[in-house]
Amino acid sequence: MEAVGSDGIRVMMESALTARDRVGMQDFVLLENHTSEVAFIENLRKRFKENLIYTYIGSVLVSMNPYKDLEIYTKQHMDRYRGVNFYEVSPHIYAVADNAYRSMRTERRDQCILISGESGAGKTEASKKVLQYYAITCPASEHVQTVKDRLLQSNPVLEAFGNAKTLRNDNSSRFGKYMDIQFDFKGAPVGGHIINYLLEKSRVVHQSHGERNFHIFYQLIEGGEDDLLRRLGLEKNAQQYQYLVKGNCPKVSSINDRNDWKIVRKALSVIGFTDDEVEELLNIIASVLHLGNVQYGGEDSGSAYITTETQIKYLARLLGVDGTVLKEALTHKKIIAKGEELMSPLNQEQAASARDALSKAIYGRTFTWLVNKINGSLAFKVWTRSNASVIGLLDIYGFEVFQNNSFEQFCINYCNEKLQQLFIELTLKSEQEEYEAEGITWEPVQYFNNKIICDLVEEKFKGIISILDEECLRPGDASDITFLEKLENTVGGHAHFLTHKLADGKTRKIMGREEFRLIHYAGEVNYNVNGFLDKNNDLLFRNLKSIYLSICLAKLMEILMSKEPSYVRCIKPNDAKQAGRFDEVLIRHQVKYLGLMENLRVRRAGFAYRRRYETFLQRYKSLCPDTWPNWDGRLVDGVSTLVKHLGYKPEEYKLGRTKIFIRFPKTLFATEDALEV
Ligand code: ATP
Ligand code: MG
Repeated sequence: MEAVGSDGIRVMMESALTARDRVGMQDFVLLENHTSEVAFIENLRKRFKENLIYTYIGSVLVSMNPYKDLEIYTKQHMDRYRGVNFYEVSPHIYAVADNAYRSMRTERRDQCILISGESGAGKTEASKKVLQYYAITCPASEHVQTVKDRLLQSNPVLEAFGNAKTLRNDNSSRFGKYMDIQFDFKGAPVGGHIINYLLEKSRVVHQSHGERNFHIFYQLIEGGEDDLLRRLGLEKNAQQYQYLVKGNCPKVSSINDRNDWKIVRKALSVIGFTDDEVEELLNIIASVLHLGNVQYGGEDSGSAYITTETQIKYLARLLGVDGTVLKEALTHKKIIAKGEELMSPLNQEQAASARDALSKAIYGRTFTWLVNKINGSLAFKVWTRSNASVIGLLDIYGFEVFQNNSFEQFCINYCNEKLQQLFIELTLKSEQEEYEAEGITWEPVQYFNNKIICDLVEEKFKGIISILDEECLRPGDASDITFLEKLENTVGGHAHFLTHKLADGKTRKIMGREEFRLIHYAGEVNYNVNGFLDKNNDLLFRNLKSIYLSICLAKLMEILMSKEPSYVRCIKPNDAKQAGRFDEVLIRHQVKYLGLMENLRVRRAGFAYRRRYETFLQRYKSLCPDTWPNWDGRLVDGVSTLVKHLGYKPEEYKLGRTKIFIRFPKTLFATEDALEV
């Protein structure tokens, strides 16, 4: 454990100096060789070994997933971070939460905490810790207690319906989430609002080997009471359901479905779902399982017919529709010929895919309904913008690179590209603002501006999205391949875009013919265009896409720009979900695509260290006879006298309005060493 005390510098320096070799720096800006990725990783390694999972880059929190329970989230820990300045205690997610809360209270400015990182890095856990911190430490009244309970209980519900076991994370969020916590003028949480986007609906009908469907299906089957399951026509055996066997992974050692069912069932009640509403919800979940078991046979003519009558019987009852109508809907499609509506038969394959499309649509809508319902229950009735403030929590998919990347990865990675743009811009902006406020001249910083990549994707008329939309609307022979050709013709020469075609007409062997490559800020990704047009055309998908894109283009940016952001950058230490394992290659990759070195460079471009005069003087006044034991004059003069006595050269420091800025860590370390003598 790191020492924790009230004097920030002492704490920081204790870990930074006396134990510096063992536990590393608790702020990367204090690394002597701040441009070295090797030094950066080494610092992470040292701290990880000592179970110090949190490290700062200035005010950005870097968090390593420990994959084990650390005793650092107790009530005592929460108390330690309450009302204490960021640097006075060791780095912690509670420090970020508290800092945002205090800024909201004192400056009356809305805040947001942006949590990013790849799957399994600990984003959702971090957001839960923030929520718990507010639930436990903020003032409460009777009404507030209900809100706190509901806010906390929304998590197990959303996770049951939106999370699943994947190869990378046993509890992977398969949707993006932005949650506002609303506080009244006394600083008590009084309401909340959730925006969800891009639920991975395809998981309802298909899971890769070793992965599962959404948790709720297994929870219901494992934990559902006998009479409930009887009413739903379900058997207590996940193996019976086609939609649950694709990944060949019905049980997961880290998950107790039966227990989780009880938690979710209770959470639904706390949130305010009536028994009837819960039953309705479960009817739909059961319907999806029954739909998955609908099987088809084929007539000689090729037309599909349904061979599983029992499923239809249950479905008709659960969904409240006529069995004959349902059967027709599952084997035919409506076409309009010569102005007349006709039912045209589907073949077996088409019918199976219509069935799956229906399952996905039902599940997707149910999820949206669920989120709306939760929002209804969290809504604070008398909340208005003028009497309250907000802290937003963004738990977003990280950059995704798979063996095969499709439209979904394209959307997710574009969103991350935008967030990175915002991150760098805002970090620069806040640095600039601090310099300005302190009256210190700002020296421009060179950094990689990824606007060029954002433009390539989003520019009107000639960006990739415009070209895709245009191709979708073009009548005739438009296909995924014609879309790719159009891309080649339009953005072919762009520095961040490649296909298999080389300028001299030859072929680039490492790329498939159906792929294009984007050179993102985080690295290169090949996207397979297969399915791009369909997914873009799919009305349901299109809605989601437009929500997602509007979040990236306008909405999210608007939300974030109007709030003061704090950042939590999560890192996953290994792919084996194991404690104590530090996989350097994997970690280096994340450091790169989280843009951490760039962040550090910006933060270190001017001054590595800055501290308020009173704190600085308090710490070091014993080193100078003129300032010891007390300095009576102006603080700035005291600090000036002190550093001159210590022999600081003019280029090594600057004195602002309230703070001293020190350019290099070594200057500070020398001063700290002097204390020890
Ligand atoms: P995804 O993008 O797949 O949703 P994620 O970044 O949200 O991933 P989490 O679900 O938060 O990842 O974390 C994955 C797992 O790692 C957790 O279920 C938990 O076992 C472990 N974990 C994460 N953070 C912590 C922590 N601070 N302490 C202990 N264990 C943790
Ligand atoms: Mg998650």
